[in-house]
Amino acid sequence: MRYISTRGQAPALSFEEVVLTGMASDGGLYVPETIPQLSRDDLEAMAGLSYAEIAFRVMKPFVAGEIDDETFRGLVRDAYATFSHDAVVPLNQLDANHFLLELFHGPTLAFKDVALQLLGRILDHFLAKRGERAVIMGATSGDTGSAAIEGCRHCDNLDIFILHPHNRVSEVQRRQMTTVLANNVFNIAIEGNFDDAQAMVKASFADQAFLNGTRLVAVNSINWARIMAQVVYYVASAVALGAPSREVSFCVPSANFGNVFAGYVAYRMGLPVKQFIIATNANDILHRTLADNDFSKQELLATLAPSMDIVVSSNFERLLFEAYERDGDAVRDLLERFQHEPTALAEAPLSRLREKFSSHSVDDDTILEVIREAHHRTKELLDPHTATGYRAAEQARADTATPMITLATAHPAKFAEAVVKAGFSGVPLPAHMDDLLEREERYEVLPAELTEVQRFVAEHRR
Ligand SMILES: *Cc1c(COP(=O)(O)O)cnc(C)c1O
Repeated sequence: MRYISTRGQAPALSFEEVVLTGMASDGGLYVPETIPQLSRDDLEAMAGLSYAEIAFRVMKPFVAGEIDDETFRGLVRDAYATFSHDAVVPLNQLDANHFLLELFHGPTLAFKDVALQLLGRILDHFLAKRGERAVIMGATSGDTGSAAIEGCRHCDNLDIFILHPHNRVSEVQRRQMTTVLANNVFNIAIEGNFDDAQAMVKASFADQAFLNGTRLVAVNSINWARIMAQVVYYVASAVALGAPSREVSFCVPSANFGNVFAGYVAYRMGLPVKQFIIATNANDILHRTLADNDFSKQELLATLAPSMDIVVSSNFERLLFEAYERDGDAVRDLLERFQHEPTALAEAPLSRLREKFSSHSVDDDTILEVIREAHHRTKELLDPHTATGYRAAEQARADTATPMITLATAHPAKFAEAVVKAGFSGVPLPAHMDDLLEREERYEVLPAELTEVQRFVAEHRR
């Protein structure tokens, strides 16, 4: 399988190169040159299989020729053995035809574990094969950092450095990162805000001389392997509800658009999906674009669903590439204009998107109301991100005959503050982490200065 850039100019790469590279050299994102197909028979044969086996079958064409079957099966099996539920991503029926797909049973209680548990193992595999080591650097305001650390803590060939803004992440989120005492894990608390941390990571990618030739790898959501791993649970949940004989719909709490784009890939592979609903919080660029063709940046708002607080949805570019019928020049032109001024999509691509996608935006007051209402109706306690999905699924679904699967992207204990604000007394952490608040922590506090951070990374990588 070859991968091409959404902006049409960077060279085509193999899966291995794409996973190690991140962004394309022309500023675009890599996508598969052709989308592999799952036939009716393929889907029917998945009924009753384990999650790991479905994962192997769905992802196999994306890595074909680059990781042999037995090795890949092993990586997949190990990745999903870290989940605390035997079904990995269980479906929970809320009412006659509305289901929650619980994606939060991984080590850090959010859906990012599904991709990062596998990505760490894939990277380590390729590095071992090449006889190389690599350094991962990332900035986090919460979920991504801990999921990346958990995904890499056992990787022999990777050292991971995660920057978080000092005293500006919740205690649970900080401890999920800083209590991992592996000798390849380094947490840096930056005396600054998230943007300062992010800027230093970006600057380090732009000039990697401080690493003396060691490769720097990004594990943010533009990495294709993360999208690939997320395709699986769309297929697995639809098959569990009767695909390919029955169509389903999905509602996805969205920010950078990696998650819902993976659903679209599943659809393009042949999964019968009637409708995708994009749920946003008050940071509603995706909703404004779909509903009003207002493709413009607005100021960042801090909401009760912080993992969805974004100004720009980086992975939306991958969907635009499809909507513009893979015209890389048109995508580049649109996104270059978007950087500088409010813009709009052309008519034909927009109507193509609206055939499959609907959207709904949910503000903070409504998030609290939904947490109370959903608990009253179903006895389920939703985390604030999932709450946006619950409301959007009700508001925007095309029909009630088609099963609606809302993706539960985090465990409520991870965002207990919002749950308490909604009037509940609190949410206990799951049993395997109930001592989180007593565990030993390790992190380094550094000033928001690039040279200090780079010196720390250069000195501590192995
Ligand atoms: C990252 C995240 C999202 C947004 O996912 P995208 O792939 O960026 O659209 C939603 N909910 C939670 C809990 C997250 O951590």
